[in-house]
Amino acid sequence: MPVVSQNRSVHRPKPFIKTARLCVTQYLFATAAITLLVYTLAFPSPATAIIALVCMVLFFAFWLLSNISSRSATCPLCRGKCLASSKASKHKKAYRLKPLSYAQTTALSIVFTNKWRCMHCGSVYDLKKKPGQRPQY
Ligand SMILES: [Zn+2]
Repeated sequence: MPVVSQNRSVHRPKPFIKTARLCVTQYLFATAAITLLVYTLAFPSPATAIIALVCMVLFFAFWLLSNISSRSATCPLCRGKCLASSKASKHKKAYRLKPLSYAQTTALSIVFTNKWRCMHCGSVYDLKKKPGQRPQY
């Protein structure tokens, strides 16, 4: 008998997967740009400066794309934007990996575990679970 998780399912998982991948790519470009800027300051070279500049441009491009894409990734239960940082009050069960924000933690959780907890309502979702599946005991 297959084990079905007790987490909620998502009817349309593609916006979450797409936005989470854009966010994680954005973080990777930010890390590369910062690393290359520090390296360029320590060891001045035009080649590393150009690569750092390209990484910064790509970071801003992915930041823009992920911000636009995050509008379609809303929680099925509370309609809160799970992958966009906001000043809204968080649920008491919401968690984050410091120093990351709740939205960044959600993006990493989606990419690496296919599960996430909504920061607004506290519900846990599983992207692999099909709608209508119920846990069997
Ligand atoms: Zn929610």
